[in-house]
Formats: sequence, structure tokens, C-alpha cells
Amino acid sequence: MKKILSTLGLLILISVALLGCRAKKETTQSKTSSSQASSSVKVANSSSQSTSQSSIEESTAPSSASTQASYNGSYYSVQGKYGEVIIVNKKHPLSSSYAPGEDPTAVAAFWQLVSAMQEIGYSVSNNYSGFRSYETQSGLYNNYVASDGQASADRYSARPGYSEHQTGLAFDLTDTSGALLTEYNASQWLIQNAHHYGFVVRYLDGKESITGYMAESWHIRYIGQEATDIYNSGLTLEEYYGVPGGGYVE
Ligand SMILES: [Zn+2]
Repeated sequence: MKKILSTLGLLILISVALLGCRAKKETTQSKTSSSQASSSVKVANSSSQSTSQSSIEESTAPSSASTQASYNGSYYSVQGKYGEVIIVNKKHPLSSSYAPGEDPTAVAAFWQLVSAMQEIGYSVSNNYSGFRSYETQSGLYNNYVASDGQASADRYSARPGYSEHQTGLAFDLTDTSGALLTEYNASQWLIQNAHHYGFVVRYLDGKESITGYMAESWHIRYIGQEATDIYNSGLTLEEYYGVPGGGYVE
């Protein structure tokens, strides 16, 4: 079942990538059942990390000072206001073996957000792209590179190990035609309201030099309660936590 779902997600993504291939009318409502093997909570493997900074323990206010994200063998993270926050960008990769699946808290929040948007009347589908394994991302990225060239692909697709989707905390919204969500009003609503559900719109217009990616109106990242602080700051995730972003370390 899970395999079918992730295959479906991949198909959607691929059809989306083929720019406006709207042939697929009937989108089978693929709600993820909560029975899914989402037992691994993200707080889990922090036991092995011994090198966390002692000085930054109580950083309640977002500072612009440079923060060192700590690595636990699976992912980089910083200490947020309410707990650990995973950082993934072109300077902070994930272990290739890190495969937590969909984060149960994030998915629950995602469905609340989707419901809210549907109630307002926005064209938002129940189909989405959430967790992606290292291998899945590898296939996607290689296809983009093959068709678009690496320089272009790097602006909108993460190299394997660098995708926020591998954390199970990121989601791509699609509209009812099966395309990634780009409709202006829906996108504006997301920017202004996603934080009420614990999400930030991760890749905003004009921030490519910081986030490392072109704007993606459809990509939201679950943070939790601190999403509202981030939204109110007007900063990107990188700026808010003061961690390095931008391009890959070549
Ligand atoms: Zn995405």
C-alpha cells in the first residue's frame, strides 16, 4: 500500500515535471492512512550526539549571529525555541540512510491545512508529495539533470541527500488538475496562513541566494509552533536561525 502510494506520488511529480501535462483528470484520492509505519519520531536519535553547544542553550530570540548546526549522524539541527529543528539545505545534507518516513505530527497538520484551503474554495488536491527517500530523490534529480542540465536542475531540484522531503517534514501541494500549486491567491493564502498550522513556505521569491532554490509556492515545511515566530520575522529559515545557506560546497 505504501509502495503504491509513493509510486503514485512519483507519477504525479513526474507528470507535473513534464510541464502542464494535464491529461490525468481523475486523481484517485490517496489519503494516507495513519496506519502507516510512522513510528519513528524525529526526536529519536539525539542520544548519540555529544557535541551540542552548551552556550546557545537558551536562545529565545532569533539572532542574526551565525549558528553552528550540529550533526548527529543523520541530520543537522539547531535548538529552536520549542525544541530541535532539522536544517536541510545545500550546506546541510542528510545521511543517505536517513529514512524516517512521513512525520505523523506534520502529516496531521498538513491535512488540517489542506482542509482549510479546500473549505475556502481553493483548488487544492488531496494528492501531494511528502516523504521521499534518498533513492527516490536520486531518480528525480537525475531525470531533471538529463533533461535540463545540471545547472538548471540545481535551481529547483535537490541533489540526493539534500532534499527537505527526505525528512518527512516537507510537502508539495498540488491543485485539482494535478499540477503543483501555483495559483496566485492560494499561494498568497499559504504564505500568510501556513504558520497557523506549523508550516513555513520554504522557498520564497527573491531568496534564492539564501535558500538555494528558486521560489516554490507549493513547498511547505513543518516546523511546529515556532513557524509563527519565523513568519513574523519575515526571514527565511536560514536567516532566522542564522545558519549558512546558498549553494553547494563544491
Ligand atoms: Zn517540495
